[in-house]
Amino acid sequence: MNVDKPCGPFTFRAKTVLTGDAAQAVFSPGEVTVADRLITYVGPPRQGAAGRVIDLPAGMVLPAFINAHQHAAMALFRGYADDVRLMPWLRQHIWPLEEHLSSDDVYTGTLLACAEMIRSGTAAFLDMYMFPQAVVRAAEEAGMRIGVSWPFVGTLETAAPRFEHLAAGIAQWADSRLTQVWLGPHAPYTCSEDLLRRVGEYAGDRDLGIHVHLAESREEVEDMRGERGLSPIAYAREVGILGPRTVVAHAAVLEPADIAIMAASGASVAHCPVSNLKLGNGVAPVRQLLDAGVNVALGSDGAASTNTLDLFVEMRLAAWLQKSAAGDPASFTAGDALGLATIGGARALGLATGVLAAGRPADLVATQGWAAHLQPVHDPVSTLVYATRPDDVRYTVIDGALVLDDGVITTFDEEALLQEAGERARRLVEARM
Ligand SMILES: [Zn+2]
Repeated sequence: MNVDKPCGPFTFRAKTVLTGDAAQAVFSPGEVTVADRLITYVGPPRQGAAGRVIDLPAGMVLPAFINAHQHAAMALFRGYADDVRLMPWLRQHIWPLEEHLSSDDVYTGTLLACAEMIRSGTAAFLDMYMFPQAVVRAAEEAGMRIGVSWPFVGTLETAAPRFEHLAAGIAQWADSRLTQVWLGPHAPYTCSEDLLRRVGEYAGDRDLGIHVHLAESREEVEDMRGERGLSPIAYAREVGILGPRTVVAHAAVLEPADIAIMAASGASVAHCPVSNLKLGNGVAPVRQLLDAGVNVALGSDGAASTNTLDLFVEMRLAAWLQKSAAGDPASFTAGDALGLATIGGARALGLATGVLAAGRPADLVATQGWAAHLQPVHDPVSTLVYATRPDDVRYTVIDGALVLDDGVITTFDEEALLQEAGERARRLVEARM
């Protein structure tokens, strides 16, 4: 399948269409038509839809998800080092393995992540990893939207060649519909102050996004306070990397002053509940961030730390954690959780997706719906967030292309990919020994 060619018109007719728009409009039954990469109709079923008609009498159509924090290629390390603290996990397990990674490993690992994301209803992701060209090669082959964050660590001096490499990437994808180039300074504990300041200036001069890990663990926050007398969020503002085009991954350990800084900066948070829980980093104050006017998206983090890239689980956990933290089940709804994965992600990445409306880019998902764990449906948003699983997703449309068509990935050979990924993962572990 050639995703560069616009697909002919096709129409979903479903039991339910969740638009995700400001009014949270729901059509039941509903219809969505796609043509020339755009949504051309959303509303009640009509007579005589043009082109192919996909009937889902128990199914649901909704905006596709956006995964706002990812290290996709780390899918190759899924399950390699679990149940370990963050710093030893990086220093003793992940970084030594990464020394042996080739660009082809990164391509294969990213494509493996793309397969999982497409199968679980994700159309776009914000990535941060080495060999960014290989990351984009995989995303392009998969037909996914990507914010590819050029990775930066070290000092301004050691990272200087990276800026030339970045300039080539910016030029290469300047006209791409699906690929945006971002700057990805890993974190304040891996990047020097002069490097972070340069990243902030470079991104500001060119209106590029900045994707950075901040306030992930208590240890990180305490170290930063000890060294500089500032929280990681306050430090990020100080060095000029916190602005409306910044996505802060995690923000799990925040003080009220940090929330005010985030709100004033216009930066988004990529909330990663599975990663935060699994690494014992606590619960991000998502309700408080939203109430302060901060845009919050949802991320899975890499599969090396979270094992799956399943935003259904992330949505569910996000809702449960906020309810539990507030001691109030009404404090965070299924609709709030869905908003993180859709419109919150779209805002974070500067995309016009996340909503089903005529004229918007056609990134959408359809579930089949006729399953014991999904019936009956009293409230479709509740069914979606609290009961739906990745294998209920039958169709994923990205930029108007059916990349998952009745449960089959159309853009690459998934079976061959699984074989290749297994072999590469085994060779990497052997190389380390
Ligand atoms: Zn991360």
